[in-house]
Amino acid sequence: MNSRQSIKRYSLVQQYFHGILFDPRYWRILLLLLIYLSAMQSTLAEEKMLVVLDPGHGGTETGATAKGLREADIALDVALRAERLLLEEGFEVLLTRRQDETLSLKERSVMANSASADVFISVHVNSAESSTLHGVETYSVDIATDSYSAMVAMKENKGADMTSPPIVDTNIMLLSMELASLVQGTTIARLDDLYAIEKQNLGHKTAMFYVLVHAKMPAILYEVGFLSNDKERQQLQSAHYREQLALSLVEALGEWRDRNQ
Ligand SMILES: [Zn+2]
Repeated sequence: MNSRQSIKRYSLVQQYFHGILFDPRYWRILLLLLIYLSAMQSTLAEEKMLVVLDPGHGGTETGATAKGLREADIALDVALRAERLLLEEGFEVLLTRRQDETLSLKERSVMANSASADVFISVHVNSAESSTLHGVETYSVDIATDSYSAMVAMKENKGADMTSPPIVDTNIMLLSMELASLVQGTTIARLDDLYAIEKQNLGHKTAMFYVLVHAKMPAILYEVGFLSNDKERQQLQSAHYREQLALSLVEALGEWRDRNQ
């Protein structure tokens, strides 16, 4: 190629780009592309499911206690473990408390509702007069399954005004039932597999817990075991056991997200 041909080719390329740059159609397409990409980005951001984890009690409210173990501490540890795992799985997570502090039941519900959470999970540890009672149970909101469930709710509602609870949306109630059943299922399967123990499956139950009644999204209360039972208290002391509880929660929420998104 001689220098004249080369100059001609350069000039053609220059004309081509000059034509594009001053063509309003080009700028319109670019603008539409930018708007589309920005919309895509915000849609992807919106798709993250926001889980509010509520470690029961805290501060002056220790919850159940036995041999130096406190429900408030175990609930917080399980919630922090679940938070870490959920973030790894692409969920957004908000904890109602991250330390040993006093928080009313109303503050917990307000926090979840204000954040427009997709799911609310309150973590608790059980206690009973009978030291033989043990196992995991997961609650969703409705009239109490039995007098035992009503009693558990009464204990957890301590100090809260339950005189005129709001009416819970039927759809939210059904979704909460489904979520509670999922969490109960993954927990029992995992604990039975790993510990090869006759884990008492106390099942999915319903009762009028303040935090569930006031939640405007699918909400469950996860009772992870009994401090009043020797064997279960020892298990709840173990970091590995608490991690399994957190993993069970995350597994259930993963399944829940697949079903509902
Ligand atoms: Zn509790």
